[in-house]
Amino acid sequence: MEFCIFGKYYCKRWWRMGTISLTTKIYFGKGAVARLRDLGAKRIFLVTDAFFFQNGIAKEILHAVGGEGKIFHGVLPDPSVSLVAEGSKMAQEFAPDMLLALGGGSSMDCAKGILLSLPQRPVFVAVPTTSGTGSEVTAFSILTHEGVKHPLIDPTLRPDYAILDDDLLQNLPPKLIAEAGMDALTHCMEAVVSKEGDLYSQALAVTAAETLMELLPRSFDGDKSVRGNIHLAATLAGISFDHAGLGVLHAVIHALGGAFHIPHGRLGGVLLPHVMVLNEKVSLHQYARVARACGMEGAWEKTAVRNLRGAICRLRKHLGLPSTLREAGIESKELEERMEEIVSAAEQDACLLGNPRSVSREEMRKLLREAMG
Ligand SMILES: [Zn+2]
Repeated sequence: MEFCIFGKYYCKRWWRMGTISLTTKIYFGKGAVARLRDLGAKRIFLVTDAFFFQNGIAKEILHAVGGEGKIFHGVLPDPSVSLVAEGSKMAQEFAPDMLLALGGGSSMDCAKGILLSLPQRPVFVAVPTTSGTGSEVTAFSILTHEGVKHPLIDPTLRPDYAILDDDLLQNLPPKLIAEAGMDALTHCMEAVVSKEGDLYSQALAVTAAETLMELLPRSFDGDKSVRGNIHLAATLAGISFDHAGLGVLHAVIHALGGAFHIPHGRLGGVLLPHVMVLNEKVSLHQYARVARACGMEGAWEKTAVRNLRGAICRLRKHLGLPSTLREAGIESKELEERMEEIVSAAEQDACLLGNPRSVSREEMRKLLREAMG
């Protein structure tokens, strides 16, 4: 099988060299879930968490597809390899012709692990209920094994269909809007400067970043009318980083998240301004494109980018997200004790390869200490 689990980068990178891969068909907008019926599935294996099982939405989705369904509702945050094994056993016995992931990033990550275990690949559908991970269009999955997060990267993990239905976003709690939205923004900011990027990924990242910067505060404050556009922007950011890769920010937050069990978006928001400073020397022009799109003032690119960093810090504050690792719940002593372990995990993370410049161990330590606050 052509994938690498546990820290090794997928080695056949040919699919990125001058290739634009448009794998996932996306249905979006109010009532998009109704399109599931057109897919003609007969045996549907639905992967979700207890929340969507108990509130009846998983059953409603199965009803929308039609056919015979089975629900695996054991998904937990940061899904582990053993959780995937449990779901895989159930899925193999059921032998579905459609695998459907319903929920946030954890449900999609878990479903992707299950997908790889099936002897025959069913149609794979993602129905995201948060606007952030972009997993509904990417070849990435993050699974946890013995406290370490491992990116799993395989082109077959890209869903065949993504259903972005506004109706699923109406009751999103502000905390999830904030954390997922900030995650999507970090995807834009890493993809736009990635050394694997090009016009395609940059165009998507710039548009998505502009949309998120403008609309996230409104959605957080209760304006439901903007959630559909935020959802689509998060997916565009996903397409962008699926094409271009990510960078040092994600390498570090995977390592930190594995060690301290703090949500991905909270850590990403803390690190983003610091990583922009780190990469600015080689990526000023790309950051400036985002800054201009977001209406930042400044005749010089450096000024516009500085203003963008300020705007990101204000957005973070508006969304109630921490501005330092200390505020995110990490003690300085704990960080120092686990520093080498975290830096080593980040160094081996596949995401690091997309960063526009190489980052030494010492620079990672400095980044973490600065972010500590
Ligand atoms: Zn992310």
